[in-house]
Amino acid sequence: MRPYAYTQVRSVRQALMHAGTGTAFLAGGTTLVDLMKLEVMTPDHVVDINRLPLRGVTFDRNGLHIGALERMSDVAANRTVRQHYPMIAEALELSASAQLRNMASIGGNLLQRTRCGYFRDLSTACNKREPGSGCSALTGVNRIHAILGTSDACAATHASDLAVALVALGAEVHLAGARDTRTVLLDEFYTPPGTTPHIENVLQPRELITGISIPRSTWAAHSTYLKIRDRQSYEFALASAAVALEMDGRTIRNARIAAGGVGTKPWRLTTVEQALNGRPATADTFEAAVANAADGARPLTHNAFKPALLRRTLVRALTVLQERR
Ligand code: SF4
Repeated sequence: MRPYAYTQVRSVRQALMHAGTGTAFLAGGTTLVDLMKLEVMTPDHVVDINRLPLRGVTFDRNGLHIGALERMSDVAANRTVRQHYPMIAEALELSASAQLRNMASIGGNLLQRTRCGYFRDLSTACNKREPGSGCSALTGVNRIHAILGTSDACAATHASDLAVALVALGAEVHLAGARDTRTVLLDEFYTPPGTTPHIENVLQPRELITGISIPRSTWAAHSTYLKIRDRQSYEFALASAAVALEMDGRTIRNARIAAGGVGTKPWRLTTVEQALNGRPATADTFEAAVANAADGARPLTHNAFKPALLRRTLVRALTVLQERR
């Protein structure tokens, strides 16, 4: 690991005074420290933000609010989250290991880097790690890579399960900058790779995530998160589905759907939602609604199975959720 300066801060203002190019904020450290050891990330200055007052889970008439420094395990165990937003608790519990969930923060989870092996291997070309160097995955081993939102520069999937659930629920992320604060819809927070895969979101170098809000809704309480992966623990998604349904008897009044493991960002599936709305919650409806879920997909040499896997994952998630009623 390369040498770096270390500073502990106690306020958002203090943290932002140190922010900028070459600085990394340290929360749980479960991504940052890994990548620093590999010298994939080499900040000159690490600013420890763990003492900032960015904790707490509150629920009011507008919805659920989670501080950026809340730990994944605490949010997953929160009774309000489990009752009113089960999809969030399930997505968190299916992420990483229990030890990592005890350390990792909610803000850090949203900013975690891709699991593309080439990104972590300094001996290979990777446009995300070193802009302009090329993409080893496009002609290399690309079984886990994305099929939606890819470009000729990068096909890395977004790694966060939580972000998929939050995009389905219409969550917003709160950002603090040196002069201002702003709130961004999480779906618009992430950017597709295009020709600049090293830019993954709209967060500016002098900004910090302070928290997230998830609106109250008539569908969030009836929701689930299904993750399909090569092994049942400590593995990233080959495909995942975040599904919420507001029902009127046996008819779907409102569906909210997003997918993970297939896109370069959490992938909201509005066409599937529209195909479900107003229909009876039956196997035939589910099969018909997901038929076009992978439209626009660009499979690579080793992941041509993903469009079909995505459709099957969606149908299974919808079926599991329907059987819970
Ligand atoms: Fe790098 Fe993206 Fe290519 Fe992976 S897919 S090697 S992260 S540019």
